[in-house]
Amino acid sequence: MDGAVESREEWTLLLWTGFAVLVPVLITLWCSFQRPKRKVQLKDLFRKSKHGWHYTDLFNKPTYCCVCAQPILQGAFCDCCGVCADEQCIPRADITLACKEIMAPLRADGSFNHHWVRGNVPLASYCSVCKQQCGTQPKLCDYRCVWCQATVHDDCKMALSSEGQCDMGEFHSVIIPPQYLHQVNNLRRRHPDEYCKLAVACGSVWSPLLVLANTRSGNNMGEVLLGEFRTRLNPVQVFDLSDITPAKALQLCTLLPPGGACVLVCGGDGTVGWVLDAIDAMKLKGQDQFIPRVTILPLGTGNDLSNSLGWGSGYAGEIPVEQLIRNIMEAELVKMDRWKVQVVSKGNYFRKPKVLSMNNYFSVGPDALMALNFHAHREKTPSFFSSRIINKAVYFLYGTKDCLVQECKDLDKRCLFVFISF
Ligand SMILES: [Zn+2]
Ligand SMILES: [Zn+2]
Ligand SMILES: [Zn+2]
Ligand SMILES: [Zn+2]
Repeated sequence: MDGAVESREEWTLLLWTGFAVLVPVLITLWCSFQRPKRKVQLKDLFRKSKHGWHYTDLFNKPTYCCVCAQPILQGAFCDCCGVCADEQCIPRADITLACKEIMAPLRADGSFNHHWVRGNVPLASYCSVCKQQCGTQPKLCDYRCVWCQATVHDDCKMALSSEGQCDMGEFHSVIIPPQYLHQVNNLRRRHPDEYCKLAVACGSVWSPLLVLANTRSGNNMGEVLLGEFRTRLNPVQVFDLSDITPAKALQLCTLLPPGGACVLVCGGDGTVGWVLDAIDAMKLKGQDQFIPRVTILPLGTGNDLSNSLGWGSGYAGEIPVEQLIRNIMEAELVKMDRWKVQVVSKGNYFRKPKVLSMNNYFSVGPDALMALNFHAHREKTPSFFSSRIINKAVYFLYGTKDCLVQECKDLDKRCLFVFISF
C-alpha cells in the first residue's frame, strides 16, 4: 500500500517537474515564432506610413509616447520629425500626427509656420521665449519645431502664437524649404532662370546641402547620420545609397539654381569615387551648370581622399552633426584633379581598352589589388563588414596573402601602356 502511495507521489513530482520545464520552453518557442510575425507586421506598417519609422528595443534617453503620453522603453521613432510611439500607438500616431512635409504650398500671406512636435525635446535645450531649460519635467511636455529646431515650454507656446513664423533656424541656408519644391513642381517652364527667381525667397547665401550616405561604410554610422540629417534638413535632400544610386540622387541638383548645391558624401573613397563618376555622367547629359560642390565625411576603411582634403581620416561621431554642417558652410572651395585613365592590355589589340576615372592619386600593383579584393569580398557579404576593426583585419589578410602569392610580380612587364588624358 505504502509502495503505491510513494510511486504515485513520485509520478506527481515527475509530472510537476516536467510541467515546470515544459511551460517556459513552450512560451519561449511561442514568442520566437510570434516575433518574426510581429516584425513583418511592423515592417508592413512602416512601409505604408508617411513617417520614417525606426524600431528600437531600448530608447537611449527617457522617452514618452507622443500619443498616450506614457513613458516607454521600446517602440518606434521617426527620424524625420522626432515623433515617438509604443507599438500599440504607432497606427494612431500615423493618423493623428503629421510628419515633416517635404513639399508644401506657400500660404496666402507668404508666411511659413513652425511645425511643433510635443515632447522628447533634446537634452539641454532652451526655450526660445523665456530662455529657461526645456524638457526638464518627467512627462510628455514642451515642443520642438521640426524645421528650425527651436524649443518652447507648453505655457510659452501660447505667447508665441502671434509670432509663430518659422525662419528655418540656423541652417536655413542649407535647407530646401518645402515651398520652394512646391513652386518648382508647379512651374510651367522648368528653366534655371526660373529657379533663380524662386531662390530669392530663400536668402542671398542659400546653398542647399544634399547628403548621400553609404550605410555599408563604417560602424552603422551611415544609418545614424542619415537620421541626424533628416532631422535637421528636409528629408528629401538626404539619400541612402543602398536605396538609390548617386546618379538618381544628384538629379535633385537640376531643380536647384545652377552651381548652388553642395553634396556631402558620407562614406569611404569608393563611395566618393562612385558619386564623382555620377557627376561626370551629368556632364555627358549636358547638365554641367548643375554640377554641385562635393564635401566628404569619411566613414569607410580607405579615406585617403578625405584626409588629403582636410576632412579627416575617419569619423565615429566625435563631432556633433550641427558642427559638421557649420564646417561645411564655412569650408573653402578647392579644385581637384580628375583624370581619365585608359588601360590597354598587352598583345591583345582587339580587346576594348578599359577607361577608368582617377582622382589626384591612384595606385597600380599590390595595394590596388588589395583594395579590389576587399571591395569584391564586401560586395559579396556586406553584413560581415560592419565593423571598422574587422575591415582593417581583412585588409591586413589580403596584404599578407599578396606578399606570399605575389600576384603582381613582374607587373611592369605584363602591362604595356597606360594612356592618361585630361
Ligand atoms: Zn502610446
Ligand atoms: Zn515623422
Ligand atoms: Zn520653426
Ligand atoms: Zn519658456
